[in-house]
Amino acid sequence: MTIEDTAADAPVRPSNIVIVGGGTAGWMTAAYLKAAFADRITITLVESAEVRTIGVGEATFSDIRHFFEFLRLEEHDWMPACNATYKLAVRFEDWREPGHHFYHPFEQLKSVDGFQLTDWWLRNPGSDRFDKDCFVMASLCDANRSPRYLDGSLIDQDFVEKPHQGGPSRSTIVDYQGAQFPYAYHFEARLLAQFLTKYATDRGVRHVVDNVVDVGLDERGWVSHVRTAEHGVLAGDLFVDCTGFRGLLLNKALGEPFVSYQDTLPNDSAVALQVPLDMDREPMRPCTTATAQAAGWIWTIPLISRIGTGYVYARDYCEPEEAERVLREFVGPTAAEVEANHIRMRIGRSERSWVNNCVAIGLSSGFVEPLESTGIFFIHHAVEQLVKYFPGGDWDPNLRTLYNRSVAHVTDGVREFLCLHYRGAKRADNQYWRDAQTRTVPDALEERLELWRTKVPDAMTVYPYYHGLPPYSYNCILLGTGGIPVRPSPGLELADERAALSEFQQIKAKAQKLVQELPTQNAFFARMRAS
Ligand code: FAD
Repeated sequence: MTIEDTAADAPVRPSNIVIVGGGTAGWMTAAYLKAAFADRITITLVESAEVRTIGVGEATFSDIRHFFEFLRLEEHDWMPACNATYKLAVRFEDWREPGHHFYHPFEQLKSVDGFQLTDWWLRNPGSDRFDKDCFVMASLCDANRSPRYLDGSLIDQDFVEKPHQGGPSRSTIVDYQGAQFPYAYHFEARLLAQFLTKYATDRGVRHVVDNVVDVGLDERGWVSHVRTAEHGVLAGDLFVDCTGFRGLLLNKALGEPFVSYQDTLPNDSAVALQVPLDMDREPMRPCTTATAQAAGWIWTIPLISRIGTGYVYARDYCEPEEAERVLREFVGPTAAEVEANHIRMRIGRSERSWVNNCVAIGLSSGFVEPLESTGIFFIHHAVEQLVKYFPGGDWDPNLRTLYNRSVAHVTDGVREFLCLHYRGAKRADNQYWRDAQTRTVPDALEERLELWRTKVPDAMTVYPYYHGLPPYSYNCILLGTGGIPVRPSPGLELADERAALSEFQQIKAKAQKLVQELPTQNAFFARMRAS
């Protein structure tokens, strides 16, 4: 097929897909589409050897397990190859005040007599740790426990989510009453991309290493081809833009506007380090840690043999040199020889992620700061939606509309959730944190915040479209950050609290039992590496 043919023809059912970009987004997309459509599509993935991938993106949501399931991969197939570890929660340090911490775990909040446990806890707090009183996982995190026993079996089935109904969009069907899968993963993004390169090329994906130097459009403004420096023209029916913050096809060639979230989420920069970890000596936390700093926060992600760490900050409040100095001081001497990676972040989303025959997935579609590890979740969600709304021969525009709505809801919903972290943070020790308490938030969140002062978040009052975060997540951040006064429901004053007190006792007993029984993360992964 020549370019001229493609330009002149009406669009056809896409079976020839060109993916531009070989970062996490490009390879996750290639692997997932191959798993979904096998040889009924052809895929070419072109990536530049000169333009580096972002190289971070190491903590995930627990929904990521559906991605690996979809690819028919077991943990032992991919975890060792990606230096992966378990993640039970995000641990927030110093967001309320120095020395304070709380967890946002992968564990649904129980309800008793129609009221969430957080409601009951507000009526009669058993301790100053809502997270330990309401969730088992918080105790496991404090004790550095693995969610699996040394023989590989999982902690009890109460924690395992009920099977989803339906097709490929399994993770988008949320059952608020169901249990939550108890963990997600940390992994090396670079190694995951390598692993998926092999997975996808073994299944027939053509891999071209070259620079895309031009994007060709036909007379209707549809992408007809990309031109590479050394491999000539790559023509296709459907083009997936995975070029990262550049947005080479969607934003640059097609001119789709980017909607910035900068007014509500000002952190626009990061500096990252990869620090060696001696697993025989240093305890390994089974969680991502987000430690509040003077102009943002530092992530700490324990992997096999190294720690991924970085300072996410706002340039309006902190220079890159200062951010790097703070990060190195935070990490200590192990960071001395390690090179820093400075990253400028584009925060927000493309107005539409799918325009004509071009779909942007990954950073080219949208991104919010990685405070809740949502970047890879966005990619996973997007590629699930692409399969769900994959076009037919008539390229029905409704499919694009539905896709764009779904992707926009996820990004906008996560933005609201992140804004809550800053509005909620009690610390007000400098201008950055004082501004955080008064900064604009989306109007709908402002209304929700008003409601949450009276009644902690539930399914009625959180962002109403699927965005990966159930109401219990909002409860954790609201109660953990501590800056927004909340009160127990007045009706609870009249209720019999014995059943709730019994539930708190059961959580405590279960946590104690599991802390005694389960191995530490270090012990679990030492065993896994030895076998
Ligand atoms: P990139 O990695 O930037 O890849 C772009 C690709 O496009 C590269 O292969 C490049 O070579 C190619 N390319 C560009 N131009 C051309 C061209 N002209 N020709 C050919 N190829 C080209 N997500 C999480 O889920 N958890 C986290 O903990 C997390 N932490 C993060 C921390 C930071 C500081 C940042 C910035 C992001 C983080 N993310 C995280 C997000 C995550 O890193 C990204 O979602 C993920 O890496 C996907 O990146 P990408 O593939 O879209 O883009």
